[in-house]
Order: sequence, then C-alpha cells, then structure tokens
Amino acid sequence: MIKIPKKRSSNLYFLPISFFFILLVSLFIYAFKFNPHFFLILGLSQIIILFFLFRFRQYLVNFQGEIELKQQDCAEKANLLQSGAENERLVLESYRKKIISYSHLKNLTEDLSMCLSQEDTSNTLSEEVNRLFGDEDVTTILYLFHSKTGELGLTASQKGQMQINLKSKKGDVFDEWVVRALQPLIIEDTKTDFRFDAEKINAEEVRVVRSLISVPLMIGNKALGILRVDSPKPNHFITEDLRFLTTVGDLGAVAIENAQLYERVEELAIRDGLTGLYLRRHFLERMAEEVSREFRKKKELSFLMIDLDKFKQYNDQFGHIAGDIVLKTVGMILLETFRDPGNLICRFGGEEFGVLLPDCPKEEAVKLAEDLRKRIAKQEIILRREKTRITVSVGVAAFPTDAQTREDLIQKADRALYKAKSEGRNKVCFD
Ligand code: GH3
Ligand code: MG
Ligand code: MG
Repeated sequence: MIKIPKKRSSNLYFLPISFFFILLVSLFIYAFKFNPHFFLILGLSQIIILFFLFRFRQYLVNFQGEIELKQQDCAEKANLLQSGAENERLVLESYRKKIISYSHLKNLTEDLSMCLSQEDTSNTLSEEVNRLFGDEDVTTILYLFHSKTGELGLTASQKGQMQINLKSKKGDVFDEWVVRALQPLIIEDTKTDFRFDAEKINAEEVRVVRSLISVPLMIGNKALGILRVDSPKPNHFITEDLRFLTTVGDLGAVAIENAQLYERVEELAIRDGLTGLYLRRHFLERMAEEVSREFRKKKELSFLMIDLDKFKQYNDQFGHIAGDIVLKTVGMILLETFRDPGNLICRFGGEEFGVLLPDCPKEEAVKLAEDLRKRIAKQEIILRREKTRITVSVGVAAFPTDAQTREDLIQKADRALYKAKSEGRNKVCFD
C-alpha cells in the first residue's frame, strides 16, 4: 500500500518573511517621517503588491490542491497495480501447483495403465497415493467390495515405503460412513468431530488416527470400494487434499474396473462355462509346468482320466438339458473331492474330465478315485420327479512310475480308462 507524503512544514519561511516585514515597517516609518509622497507611493505599491500576492497565493493553493489530487490518484493507481500484481502472483502459484498435480496424475495414470491384475492395480494405487501425500506418517488404505459376498474388504495398505498389515480388515466407523453416504469425507480431528463416537474409534484401532480424508471409488452409480488417507496428526489435510484425492479416486476406480474386467475375461478364456472347471488348453499348459516341477523335486504326481458311463444313452433318455445338469453335478462333486489347493481339475471335453494331483503317490490317487466313483454312483439326480443316477469309469496313471512325459501320462491314464470301460464300467483301473 502506497502512502501519500505529508505536507512540508512552513517554519523554514518564517525567518526571511520576518526579516522582510521588519525592513518594510522601517521603510514605512522612514517615509512617514521624512517623505510623505514616498509614503503614499509606498502604501499604494504595497496595496497592489499585497493584492497580487494574495492572488498568487490563491493560485498556489489551487495548484497545490491539484497536485495533491494527482498524488492521491497516482497512489490509488499504484495500489491497484500492486494488488493486481499480487493477484497475478497467486494465480501463477495456483497454476504451478496445478501443473505439478497434473504431472503426478499423468504419472499415476501411466503406472495404473501398466497393471493388468486387480492386485497389481490396488498395490500401485495405494503406493502412488501415499507418495503423492508425501509424509512418512500418512497411511493409505484401499478397501474393495468383494465381487461375490458384496462385503468391504481390505485390499491394500501403505505407510511410507512399506505395505503394512492393518487390524481392521473390513473398515472402521469412518469407512462405514463413506459406504453409507457414498460421499467424500474429511475429518480434521477425530477427537472433536461430533459425528463419530471417539471412544468407539479408539476401541477399534490400535493405530492412532487423528485426521483423515476418504472417497468412494465410483463407476457411474456403482461403488467399487473406498480410498482413504489418514494421519496420526490432527488437521493434517485441507479441502484441496480431499479434492485431489477425489480425482485420484476417479482414476483409480477406472483402473480397478478395467483390471476386474480383464481378470474376468481371462477367467472366461480358461474356464468352462457349464461346470466352471478349467478348459483343456489351460489344463495342459499347467500340467506341463507341474510335470517339470515334480521332475525337479523328484516327487510323484498322479493323473486321473474320468469318463461318464453310457452318457449318450442318458442324454437320449432324459434330453440334452438333463445331461447338462448331470455334467454340472459331476463337476461339483469333483471340486468337493479334490478341493486341496494345488489340485487341478478340468473338463477335458464332452463328458470327460481330468484331475491332476501334484505330490500324490499312485496308491493315494487310486483311493481318491475310488472315493469319487462311489460318491458319483451314490448321487441321486432328480429329473421330472424321477430319481436318476450316473456312474463313471476312471483311469489312473502316475509320474514318474508309469510315464516320463505329459503326453505319456495322459495316454497311460486313457488306456487304464479304456480298461475300466471294457471291464464293465463304474470302475477304477490302473497299470
Ligand atoms: P461310454 O460309457 O462308452 O463312455 O459311453 P458314452 O455314451 O458315454 O460315450 P459316447 O462317446 O458314445 O457318448 C458321449 C456323449 O456325451 C455324446 C454326447 O451326446 C454327450 N455329450 C458330450 N458333451 C455334452 C454336453 O456338453 N452336454 C450334454 N448334455 N451331453 C454331452
Ligand atoms: Mg462316456
Ligand atoms: Mg467319452
């Protein structure tokens, strides 16, 4: 703010004016006493001079007034220019911040576009968000809704450079609020926020959370989950942070949806639509991997080839749709019987199934095959209020006892299956 300078003091003029006044008075006294004409002339000339001086003073006062007005005008203009310059500086500063934010968002988009799986996308998102908020104490948490149960579940959590394990796997009161309201949430201080019960918060979490921002991850009207950043310090976040997190959340939601779609497409490409079991091509690839792994580990691996007995006849009698129900039922029994992780179950084609049992000796595999045969034979399938049954024949072969390669193993199991068929069906056979 520019100030107008104060008027200069008139004390400086006092001395010459007093001197001039004394001189004039002396001149008047002299003229009055010794020269009346000169006194008259002097008096008249003084009146004229006083008149002009008065006019001149008037002129000076007006002139000074004009100068003061101009000075004020200039000071106002200078102040306007100064505040304009300050505004420009603030605008430039906000542009600078925006450019930095956009470049962060660009990097985030690039990183997310490289991720194909949901796990990769979730970890990248939480890592990047934590980096953007750049404080070692800040924790970023990503919760996603489970596709089948619909429940909120902890998917990724990051603190500083580390992925951390959190106690609350399904979210706390703040996450419940965001899920219910589907609105962004900012808490400046958890201890003073009247919306949430401070005692309940402390009981739930061992970590100290004093401030947080959280946004729902939305695709249209559908919520995929929640992205949240919290801090042990109060008043750590401002509204601008929440706005930025909302933009990041929008990008994250698109990336997560893409990853989920990609995984679903991949699942569709490797799984049979009717039974949900692996398709032959994928199964053969995995089988090759397992065979070479077992070869390295010098362990035994067994393979079961399963075929439904007289299924053509069943189809002819009850119809193709009934046949499909049977295939589905057999698929479920297979999943139940061989549910140990690591086992691979596949629909080999038509009414044939294959089961690969890693680290499983032949005798064990034969026992499991026998168990399967009995379970299927016992299973009642009710069609048009009529109880029906189906049986299976199973061929068992093991690596490396019966075969040294994948192809050989399949051939040996197929041969054992043929034997089971020729020996009357509903049987388990092996070499
Ligand atoms: P076998 O005991 O010798 O194995 O006799 P089978 O009748 O089971 O064998 P075959 O190979 O002659 O017939 C297989 C039948 O499986 C023929 C076909 O109608 C049926 N099939 C194959 N795929 C499907 C399917 O996806 N759905 C239904 N409903 N039937 C299928
Ligand atoms: Mg058959
Ligand atoms: Mg067959």
